[in-house]
Amino acid sequence: MFKGSKVYSIATNTCPKCNVGSFFKTNNPYDLKNFDKINEYCQYCGESFLREPGFYIGAMYVSYALSVALTVISFVGFVILLNVDIYYVLAVLIPAIIVLLPVLFRTARIIWINFFVKYDPEKAALATEKRNLANP
Ligand SMILES: [Zn+2]
Repeated sequence: MFKGSKVYSIATNTCPKCNVGSFFKTNNPYDLKNFDKINEYCQYCGESFLREPGFYIGAMYVSYALSVALTVISFVGFVILLNVDIYYVLAVLIPAIIVLLPVLFRTARIIWINFFVKYDPEKAALATEKRNLANP
């Protein structure tokens, strides 16, 4: 599915450069002790994920945009199109955003690094080969 695109990297939490290595230490966003831990480097292509101190501060803006998008889509979908009372929508939406916080946090970070790192087909081919050798 869209391998080599930013959508693939974001949807599968993989390295934006090779689309092979994992970006996060755990794939479970509800492993609350480790959901925010990012691998220091891609284990297959060596791309640095901890680029500089404070790099992920910009991801806060992405996280905010994702929360606003979720709110606006819910408002338009339920209040305007389906004519549901806004208090019922808020009663579901606010807990939903709280429950989705780890998912939004992780999605914002992987979107943020995808702004700065381009997919590299040569590194991807080498990374895929390296992974296949490590896991025959
Ligand atoms: Zn990589």
